[in-house]
Amino acid sequence: MAQTVLILGGGVGGLVVAKRLRKTLPREHRVVVVERRPSFVFPPSLLWLITGGRNAEQISRPVSRLVSRGVEVVQGEITRIDPARREVVVDGRALAGDHLVIALGAEFAPELVPGLGEAGHNFCTLAGAEAVREAWAGFTGGRLVLLTASPVYQCPAAPYEAAMLLEHSSRKRNMREKTQIDLYSAEAAPMPVAGPEVSKAVRQMVESKGIRYHPEHQVTKADPAASTLEFANGAKATYDLLVYVPPHRAPKVVRESGLCGESGWISVDRGTLETKFPRVYALGDVVSIPLKLGKPLPKAGVFAHREAEAVARNIARAITGKGQSAAFDGEGECFIESGGGKAGFGGGNFYAEPVPEVKMRRPGFRWHAAKVLMEKGWLRRWF
Ligand SMILES: Cc1cc2nc3c(=O)[nH]c(=O)nc-3n(C[C@H](O)[C@H](O)[C@H](O)COP(=O)(O)OP(=O)(O)OC[C@H]3O[C@@H](n4cnc5c(N)ncnc54)[C@H](O)[C@@H]3O)c2cc1C
Repeated sequence: MAQTVLILGGGVGGLVVAKRLRKTLPREHRVVVVERRPSFVFPPSLLWLITGGRNAEQISRPVSRLVSRGVEVVQGEITRIDPARREVVVDGRALAGDHLVIALGAEFAPELVPGLGEAGHNFCTLAGAEAVREAWAGFTGGRLVLLTASPVYQCPAAPYEAAMLLEHSSRKRNMREKTQIDLYSAEAAPMPVAGPEVSKAVRQMVESKGIRYHPEHQVTKADPAASTLEFANGAKATYDLLVYVPPHRAPKVVRESGLCGESGWISVDRGTLETKFPRVYALGDVVSIPLKLGKPLPKAGVFAHREAEAVARNIARAITGKGQSAAFDGEGECFIESGGGKAGFGGGNFYAEPVPEVKMRRPGFRWHAAKVLMEKGWLRRWF
């Protein structure tokens, strides 16, 4: 009997599930993606966009391109999810699936910190990154502050990379001596889930560039008129330009669906990504997968992608009865841009117990080149 796979979200994870299933499933089965944005933006490239290394066109692709690959695309806002019935409402219209995949990512909530949204710019969206680029182009020296406004956010390396890329750009623009760069993080160390060795290496990379690092600074308030920040530990900071990572939470429609556990995110089986509802899967940033060391698996595209591969294989198997079952194994890696055409590289098994086994490679030109190849390859392969 013909079946429908309904995929909520056409970001990194949703795209991979959709294209993998379309390749595997016979044509009588429908693969439907629901996405609010007309264009997909490749998030790792936003870091190059802020210093002018990329423009929006280079890193975006129309989601409608999936249609020519046999995937049905519904563009609209999902306002309701009923996981028990595998039904959703999109702009007032009901849709249902035999299999439901929730890949709706994280919602950014700067409003959780009073004043933050008006005080600076965040690089987690295309519009935000473009605003950072514009503000940076007009910056002629002074105090640049980078800030993570909560300890859990997507791509734990990103704010450290942003600091190093902006530092390099300040030298290229002959204003390094006039620029003080401070990075305040809510977390106790860079990329803490990757272990103390990786944390130490990233901290050294940042500090070796004269960037002042202030861990365990949870921002509580920003005052855009006075250009000041206040932290839970009583510290205060001033800035001329503020670049921040906003607090993250599960999207409203997910919070209202009854799917979120105590963590505030969706709980799933860590291998199959199945929720407590039959034939309902969730993956990527919208889930929280607890690790033995007491912190969750980081939110990153590399995990969303690999989880999506496992989910697609298991759904295809459930529908056709063919193929092997698959489980996400916790493997992942990332590049850490350090400026000047160099990057470091860290990777390993985040499901290893009692602590993840992650190794870090020293920054070099080849890791930056590898990241550029990854960007080009990813956009070509999935569009
Ligand atoms: C600057 C930056 C750099 C990064 N670099 C890296 C990197 O180098 N490596 C790495 O692994 N990760 C990186 N990441 C993280 C990575 O982008 C995310 O972890 C990844 O995109 C998560 O995939 P996802 O499918 O879970 O969610 P997303 O890719 O965010 O997709 C979610 C989709 O759901 C849609 N959506 C949400 N709500 C609704 C709704 N109600 N109705 C309709 N559609 C909706 C959204 O529009 C979105 O397209 C980076 C992130 C940023 C911001």
